[in-house]
Amino acid sequence: MSSQTTPDVYDVDVLVVGAGPGGSAAGYWLARSGVRVLMVERKVFPRDKTCGDGLTPRAVRQLTDMGLAHKLETFHRHDGLRAIAADITLEMPWPDHPVFPSHGYVVRRHDLDEFVARNAVEAGAELWQGAEAVAPIFTQGILSGATVKTKPGFRRNLPGEPADDADRQDPDEQAASVPATIEVRARFVVVADGSLSRFGRSLGARRDRDYPQGMAIRTYYQSALSTDPVIESTLDVRDRQGNAMPGYGWVFPLGDGTINVGVGLLSTFKNWKQVNTSVMMQEFAATAPSHWGIDPSAPLQPATGGRLPMAGSVFPKVGPNYLLIGDAAGSVNPFNGEGIDYAYETAREAAHVIALALVNNDALTLIDYQRWLEDEYGLYFQVASVFARLIGQPALMRQLTQIGMQSRSLMEWALRVMANLLRPDEVHVAELAYGSIARIVQIALGPSSLSDAAQ
Ligand SMILES: Cc1cc2nc3c(=O)[nH]c(=O)nc-3n(C[C@H](O)[C@H](O)[C@H](O)COP(=O)(O)OP(=O)(O)OC[C@H]3O[C@@H](n4cnc5c(N)ncnc54)[C@H](O)[C@@H]3O)c2cc1C
Repeated sequence: MSSQTTPDVYDVDVLVVGAGPGGSAAGYWLARSGVRVLMVERKVFPRDKTCGDGLTPRAVRQLTDMGLAHKLETFHRHDGLRAIAADITLEMPWPDHPVFPSHGYVVRRHDLDEFVARNAVEAGAELWQGAEAVAPIFTQGILSGATVKTKPGFRRNLPGEPADDADRQDPDEQAASVPATIEVRARFVVVADGSLSRFGRSLGARRDRDYPQGMAIRTYYQSALSTDPVIESTLDVRDRQGNAMPGYGWVFPLGDGTINVGVGLLSTFKNWKQVNTSVMMQEFAATAPSHWGIDPSAPLQPATGGRLPMAGSVFPKVGPNYLLIGDAAGSVNPFNGEGIDYAYETAREAAHVIALALVNNDALTLIDYQRWLEDEYGLYFQVASVFARLIGQPALMRQLTQIGMQSRSLMEWALRVMANLLRPDEVHVAELAYGSIARIVQIALGPSSLSDAAQ
């Protein structure tokens, strides 16, 4: 790469803020449409990101569509979920589906996010790593780009660059060749800056607190069972004294001698803010199923946690010339805490409408993104939010799991609903099922619950 000086002002068609799953997928699909796109990422790859590292069939489909199936095959594959509750263990394969594969993977975000970002660069997107969008720029009241500050380790990956070239670049030369602050001007902006979404908030986006939010924490342990071909979820977490704890626990095997172990809970639990997730994490590590052979005193790194904004809880997601995607749009599934697949999916649709808006020279096309979100996730997220309220009542949660775990077919159905893997021909049945869930909640929580939860 040449040591050409980056100008103080830099023009692109689309600026993508953040190059996690959402930002890199947006970069990829925009580049594939021939759009001049720049992704700015404040960290330098490879970088860690607190996550369960679980990719379910929806995420695998998106990664496959981005040409990354061969990459995934080098990581640990799983073919189903083991659910544990009420002293019962049920192992369920991922369902057959006409659109989604019947398997998933567990891939550290340290690896996943780097190869997805590189894939976008190879497709023609530009990536600045170690470059933070610190503030939006407005021209006559309309967003026209962002002030981007470079940080230590800054480097540019030019469009079409082969993946390995990035390693050969001299970071010192890169850092020296650019000014510390650059004004990036763009016709459209994709906001993909994750759950805290400072950039999104500076544009006026806010999370609606009536929606559920998740809180989760994880670390890694060594385990002789790390090649287990299923991921595992414990639905009734207990402490060492046998007392029930709020939330759920997971163990996701990485196939390399290690496992990702974590716990999560929803904001619908009473006093959720007072829950000490570090204590929950320690208790779960000590009480997790013995087949993993976890030594709770020997985590491989300090446990770290984060927030999961759910059910499309951030508004507005569409501005005159910008769109919010992934966690910045609050896209995490309340049923299971998955957000990587929704980041990929919302990114792809955002890229589609922006490419159309550029071709048609009509920013109004962006409204189609809002319609798509409603069609694709509207009812599903509404029901998931209601469900989140339901399981926020520990006694009800226990009752439900006790009933559910008695029936394999009921749990297989629940798995398909919770992982959003119903077949298209089942959607009418799903609507009936959603109605039943809604009725149960109404009986359990009182008549105002549905309208409250839907807000
Ligand atoms: C403990 C935990 C476990 C989880 N487990 C799973 C799981 O197993 N499976 C699953 O599907 N989901 C899981 N999730 C959710 C998942 O991590 C998120 O939904 C997903 O990362 C969302 O992707 P994103 O691209 O929207 O945001 P992020 O992954 O947060 O990426 C945002 C990127 O933007 C960058 N950035 C932020 N601000 C700026 C700025 N101003 N300028 C430039 N760059 C910026 C950040 O450095 C980051 O790289 C988990 C979450 C947590 C907290």
